Amino acid sequence: MTGGILDTAEVLRERFGHTAFREGQREAIDACIEGRDVVVVMPTGAGKSLCYQLPALALPGYVLVVSPLIALMKDQVDQLRAKGIVAATVHSGSTPDEKWGVAHDIEAGRLKILLVAPERFRLKRFVQFVRRFPPSRFIIDEAHCISQWGHDFRPDYRRLHEVTEILDGLPVAALTATATPDVRRDIAVQLRLREPLEILTGFDRPNLAFEVVPAPSKDDKLTVTEELLEGTEGVRLVYAASRRSVESLAEHLREHLDGDVAAYHAGLRDHERASVQDRFMSGELDVLVATNAFGMGVDKADIRMVLHYDMPGSLEAYYQEAGRAGRDGEPARCVLLQHGADYALQRFFLDGANPSPDLVQRLFRILSERCRPSTGDGPVIVRAADLKEPLGEKRDGAIDTALRMFRRFGLVDLRGDEYTLASEFPDRCPVPADELIEKRRRDEERLSRMWDYTRGGRECRFDRVRSYFVGKPGDPCGRCDVCAGGERERRTPTSAELERVQAVLRVVAELDFRFGPTKIVKILAGSRTTDLTDRGLDRLDGHGALRGAGEPFIRDLIRFLEDEGLLEREAFRSADGTRSGSLLGLTPAGTRLARGEITPELPPVPAPRSARSSRRGSSSRAAKKAAPVADVDSELYESLRGLRVELSDEHGRPAYTFFSNETLELLASDPPESREEFLTVKGLGEKRWDTFGERVLARIAQWRASRA
Ligand code: ADP
Ligand code: ZN
Repeated sequence: MTGGILDTAEVLRERFGHTAFREGQREAIDACIEGRDVVVVMPTGAGKSLCYQLPALALPGYVLVVSPLIALMKDQVDQLRAKGIVAATVHSGSTPDEKWGVAHDIEAGRLKILLVAPERFRLKRFVQFVRRFPPSRFIIDEAHCISQWGHDFRPDYRRLHEVTEILDGLPVAALTATATPDVRRDIAVQLRLREPLEILTGFDRPNLAFEVVPAPSKDDKLTVTEELLEGTEGVRLVYAASRRSVESLAEHLREHLDGDVAAYHAGLRDHERASVQDRFMSGELDVLVATNAFGMGVDKADIRMVLHYDMPGSLEAYYQEAGRAGRDGEPARCVLLQHGADYALQRFFLDGANPSPDLVQRLFRILSERCRPSTGDGPVIVRAADLKEPLGEKRDGAIDTALRMFRRFGLVDLRGDEYTLASEFPDRCPVPADELIEKRRRDEERLSRMWDYTRGGRECRFDRVRSYFVGKPGDPCGRCDVCAGGERERRTPTSAELERVQAVLRVVAELDFRFGPTKIVKILAGSRTTDLTDRGLDRLDGHGALRGAGEPFIRDLIRFLEDEGLLEREAFRSADGTRSGSLLGLTPAGTRLARGEITPELPPVPAPRSARSSRRGSSSRAAKKAAPVADVDSELYESLRGLRVELSDEHGRPAYTFFSNETLELLASDPPESREEFLTVKGLGEKRWDTFGERVLARIAQWRASRA
C-alpha cells in the first residue's frame, strides 16, 4: 500500500523536524500505515497528532479526522499549513466557496488532512461525499467522547460507527488522552474496530509530584492556595470549578501575590481569551486561574504547578488537567485541595446530570399530553422551570438534562432557553431506563474514585491514578505526599478524640450495615428530615451526637475511621436497580473499640472546625434547617428565601417563578456583589435583574454588614 519500504524516520526528520519518535509513536504510525485499527492512549502533549499526521503524508489521498472542537480545528489547520501540509476543515461556518475548494482539493488528490466535527455526519450530503471520495484512514480524536461511560460523552460521536459501516474496511485510529480499561473496550465496541492494536504510553511521569492538601473551610482554601503558589516558582496554573470561582479567586490572588495573575473562562470575549492565552504561552503570566475551558490544545512545556482549587468530578478530568504540569520533564507539582464541600457540590452536579428513569417517564407523559399536531398555531413551548411543579421536582437541573435527552430523539428542539415540542410523540418513551441507571452508576463510581483519591490512606497517590488508567497497580512513586510523608505519627488518642470516634462507632454499631454514610452523617448531625423521622432514626441514642460540627466534618471523620480499618462499606443495590450505594458497618477491630475492649494507637483524629463556625454564628441554625449544599450560608439562604416570599406576595405569582431553589443555593453559597455578577448566576438574567436584582444585592449587603 505504501509502494515500497517507507522510511518513516526520514519523514519525521524532513517534514516534522523531530530527531526521534517518542514512546509509542512508531508502533501507532506503523499500524496505521499498515491499515490496522488502533487505539492510542497517550497523555495530553505526548504527541498523539503525529500518529495520524505522518501516515497522512505517507499514504495516498487524505485522512479524515473527527475532532470535537471547531475552534481548535482552525488552529490545527494553521499549524499544519505552517508545516507545509495541505489541511482543511469544513464546519457550519464555512462558505460554499470554501467547501467547494476543499472538495476540489480532495478530488485532485492534493488534500492530506480534513478535520471535521462529529455533527458533520448528521448531513446526508457530507456522508455521500465521503462515500464518493473515501479517505485513506478514519481518525477519531478525543475518542473517549464516544463512550457513555467516559467522562465527556458526546452523543454525536455515536454516529461515527455508521461511517465505518458505510465505508466497509476503512482502517480506523482512535486517539485519546484519558480512557480507563472499560472505556477503551467501549471505544473498540462502539466503533466496531477489528482486533485493534492498543497502545498505552506516557503514564509514567517521573518528574511530577502529586499532593493532596486539606483545606477544611472555604477560608482555608484561600490561605492554602496562597501558600502553595508562593512556595513554587515559575508558571502556575490553577483550576477552579466555575466562572465565578475563577473570577473571585483571581481577584483575591491579585491582591495577595506578587506577579501577574490572570483569569480565563468561557464567559470572556474571544479576544480577551486569546490575549490571556497569548500572555500565558509567552511566559508573561505568573499565575493563571482558569476553568476547565482552558487547556485543550494548550501546549506549554514549563508549567511548574497545576493546582486544583476545586475537586473535579472524575480522575479522568483530574489527570488530564494535572498532567499539563512539567511537560519539559523538569520537576513539577500537581496539587489538589481536599475540601469536604466539594464532594457535595459534585454530587449536586451528578444528580442534575442523571435524572431518574421515573422522572424521565413522567416528563415524557406530561409532554405527550401537551404536544399537538401542527395546526399553524406554532409549536408548543416549554421551559424546564415551568415543569418543576407538575413533576414535583425541586431543581431544574435534572429536568433540563431529561429534556436534552429528548432532544436527541427528536421529541423537542431547543431555542434559547425554551424547548419546542415535536408535533407528535411516540407511544413509548424512547430513552432506555437501563442506560440511565447504568450511567448514574458509572458517574457515581467515578466520583467516588475521585473522592477516594483525595482521602489520606496509605497508598501512593500517583500509583492510584496510574493504576486507574492502566488497569493494574505498579510501584510507589516516591515523590507524592504519601510516599514522601511516610506513615503519619500514631499515638494513644486523647479523650476528646476518643469521644468523637465513639460517637460514630456507636451509631454505626446500632444500625450495623443497614444504612449508608449519608444517613449516618445526618443522624450524627441531628437532622430531623422525614427520611430519618419516618424510620424513627431521630430516636436513636446517638442522634445529634455531633450536632453543630458540620456534615463535611462528620463525613471526614467517617472516612478517617474507614482508612484506619474501624469501619467498612458493603456495596448495595436495590432490587429494581434504581438505587445503589454502600452500607456502613463495623470491622471486627471497630466492634472491639466500640465495646471498649481495645484502644488502638491512631494518627490525629480530625477535629471539627469549631472556631470558624462559631465566628460565622450559623452552625446551630444550620443544624435546624440544613441547606442542601454544604457551604451555603444558612442565614443568607433564609434571608433570600424570605425575599422570594415577599416577591411572591407582591406579584401574586408562585415563589419559584422568581428564582429556583438551585439559584437560591447558588446565591447563598457565592453571593454576587454587582449587577454583572448577578447576571452570571445560573437562572438569573436581565429581566430578573430589573424586577428584583437590587433587592437581592441589598439583602446580601445587609447580611455582610451583620457579619462584620
Ligand atoms: P497531543 O495531541 O498528544 O496532546 P500533540 O500531538 O499536540 O500532543 O504534540 C505535542 C507536542 O509534541 C507538539 O508540539 C509536537 O510537535 C511535539 N512532538 C510530537 N512528537 C514529537 C517527537 N517525536 N519529537 C519531538 N516533539 C514531538
Ligand atoms: Zn507516591
